[in-house]
Amino acid sequence: MITYDSNNIFAKILRGEIPCDKVYEDDFALAFRDINPQARIHTLVIPKGAYVSFDDFATKASDAELGGFARAVQAVAALEGVTESGYRLIANHGKHSQQEVPHYHVHILGGESLPGLIAKT
Ligand code: AMP
Repeated sequence: MITYDSNNIFAKILRGEIPCDKVYEDDFALAFRDINPQARIHTLVIPKGAYVSFDDFATKASDAELGGFARAVQAVAALEGVTESGYRLIANHGKHSQQEVPHYHVHILGGESLPGLIAKT
């Protein structure tokens, strides 16, 4: 059973208690730049609802939230100017992924050529 910790840092950002470098906001999502960017573009998109990770979101979110969030990720990629050049989405879930912040978030990485995930032979 996963319990949502409403004191996590992204919950505080959603409540406006901590500032963020905001890129986009709608009814379903908030997007802001990662504080420790791993690529020229590194933007985080988080749902407005209280979900711990992708797995929790996929289990509990309504169809409207699921669809709205996907559309928000797409809109943020477009706003960041990486739709044409390409981007990578990462969503960590749980211990083995090294997820740090227990509020579901998608990383959008791009703005430059990213290292491949699978070694080419
Ligand atoms: P994860 O390991 O998937 O949980 O990623 C958490 C991400 O949140 C990391 O890339 C951090 O750099 C980023 N992060 C942590 N605190 C903040 C913050 N206050 N504003 C923006 N990004 C943050």
